[in-house]
Amino acid sequence: DITMPRPAHPRVIGVANQKGGVGKTTSVVNIAVALALHGNRVLVIDLDPQGNASTGLDVPHHAGIPDVYDCLIDNTPIDDVVQQVQGIPNLWCVPATIDLAGAEIELVSVVARESRLARALQNHKAEYDYVFIDCPPSLGLLTVNAMVAAQEVMIPIQCEYYALEGVQQLTSNIALVKAHLNPRLDVTTVLLTMYDRRTRLADAVEQDVRAHFGDKALQAVIPRNVRVSEAPSYGQSVMTYDPGSRGATSYFEAALEIAHRGAAMGATA
Ligand code: ADP
Ligand code: MG
Repeated sequence: DITMPRPAHPRVIGVANQKGGVGKTTSVVNIAVALALHGNRVLVIDLDPQGNASTGLDVPHHAGIPDVYDCLIDNTPIDDVVQQVQGIPNLWCVPATIDLAGAEIELVSVVARESRLARALQNHKAEYDYVFIDCPPSLGLLTVNAMVAAQEVMIPIQCEYYALEGVQQLTSNIALVKAHLNPRLDVTTVLLTMYDRRTRLADAVEQDVRAHFGDKALQAVIPRNVRVSEAPSYGQSVMTYDPGSRGATSYFEAALEIAHRGAAMGATA
């Protein structure tokens, strides 16, 4: 079924893995674009000081641009920092600028430091079908803010040696946030990335991940594909840069599965 159902309620999905380079940002950008191109209203919140999601969506994020830092530290409403993504209808982005690099430290002494993003988003999420939060490669306060603001966590896992190393720590942090700060939080989605069908390793990792996460692991798997890694240097997602590539078709399948699972979780609009 290739119709893309829209969720009845906004889905806020934190995309987390404290390992860097596993495909968090790439997955956020491409899945967000896929959903937006099929009629969903989608917001991407760039919560990584490196600003890769902002770059990938070609959203200005140089110093001085209002960004997610202002929401976290200065109580600026999300609406005041949101930018429309050019060329993709229904897609918006809250960028990250270099300011965000200090936030992890500054948040420590701020009131309700774990729920700043949740508060900034509270009155605005109804405007979207999906909100994706692209987390930095750490389990610090920025990632905790994403987990308090979200009701779902998506974990991208790169098909490599030690793929599951660190995942235990991630899931126990998620459990802590659920127990103390956000009872609605659940890991709903695990996505295998940079899969290389020619290697026995990729197959072994896939089996491990499916044994560990069961149904949470999407059937769709993202192959290692050079078009995926080229797209950001053109300020594009692979969905628009090369829609026929295996990278793009796999991300479309992943987006479709996410949409259908959401429809199964609650009535669709
Ligand atoms: P993270 O956000 O977890 O740090 P990224 O999404 O930035 O990871 O991906 C890390 C690097 O791997 C980037 O250079 C990206 O272009 C590349 N990459 C991600 N997914 C793929 C893929 N499916 N095929 C080829 N390269 C990929
Ligand atoms: Mg990233």
